[in-house]
Amino acid sequence: MGCAHFIDSSRWGVSVLHGGTTTQAAMGQAAELPNRTELRAGQLVIHADFPLDGQHRLIRELETLRADVSEGLELPLSDEPVHIYLFEKTERYEAFAASRFPAFPARRAFFVETDTTLSVFAPWQDRVAEDLRHETTHGYVHAVVTTVPLWLDEGIAEYFELPRVEQGVHRDHIAHLSGRLLEGTWQPNIERLELLESASQLSQDHYAEAWCWVHWMMRTTPERRKLLQNYLADVRRDGKTAPLSVRLRESETSTTVCLAAVRAHLEQLAQGMHEQESQRSR
Ligand SMILES: [Zn+2]
Repeated sequence: MGCAHFIDSSRWGVSVLHGGTTTQAAMGQAAELPNRTELRAGQLVIHADFPLDGQHRLIRELETLRADVSEGLELPLSDEPVHIYLFEKTERYEAFAASRFPAFPARRAFFVETDTTLSVFAPWQDRVAEDLRHETTHGYVHAVVTTVPLWLDEGIAEYFELPRVEQGVHRDHIAHLSGRLLEGTWQPNIERLELLESASQLSQDHYAEAWCWVHWMMRTTPERRKLLQNYLADVRRDGKTAPLSVRLRESETSTTVCLAAVRAHLEQLAQGMHEQESQRSR
């Protein structure tokens, strides 16, 4: 988590770079894009303000992710470039974000889609691998489906942000949601997720639940995975297609049955996680 995803129609960047006063000049500097290194890796164009090796494990991993996202969601591959801007220093990244995107909430990394470009911005810090897998997933998805609902967009990115060996099992989200379930303060509700309209509305609960629905569809039965894939194919053609909640209500026989299945899946994952942990501590 930690992503902010924005659709920006103002064609960012041009106005800030001009100006004569000291403040504007300083802002201009802060607003400069990283340009010391430029690497191409498949669909990705990586710009860094520090020397970065094209053979870096993380870059190879982001390239593999392209095929994983495409195969997992049955989406066609696109050649539309996804630009990744990497800042060596977190302070530089923060100054850049504040200068170029003053209206955006502060986040660890973010993805911006304009009419013409797909861009990811991130500092090179401890959790950069997870953040880049997350944001780059947005890039790969948006290169082919521009109208994916916000909650599902985040759920998919949370699912693919994990190292491949984890198979989409997001331990932080499982711990969070199963705790809330035990407290009796939370129940899955896909219709509530479908009402979300802006990134600033998204809480930890929403990210975790969005992940949970995606994991449940991707990893429980081939039929559910197919339902998600068909939905994405439809939404790609027509943004106003019937929402997932409606499709799931039909395929799972009722909302009640569907919610019970998601809860059971979460409980099973939590159980598995506890067993692993107790084995490890023995
Ligand atoms: Zn995101």
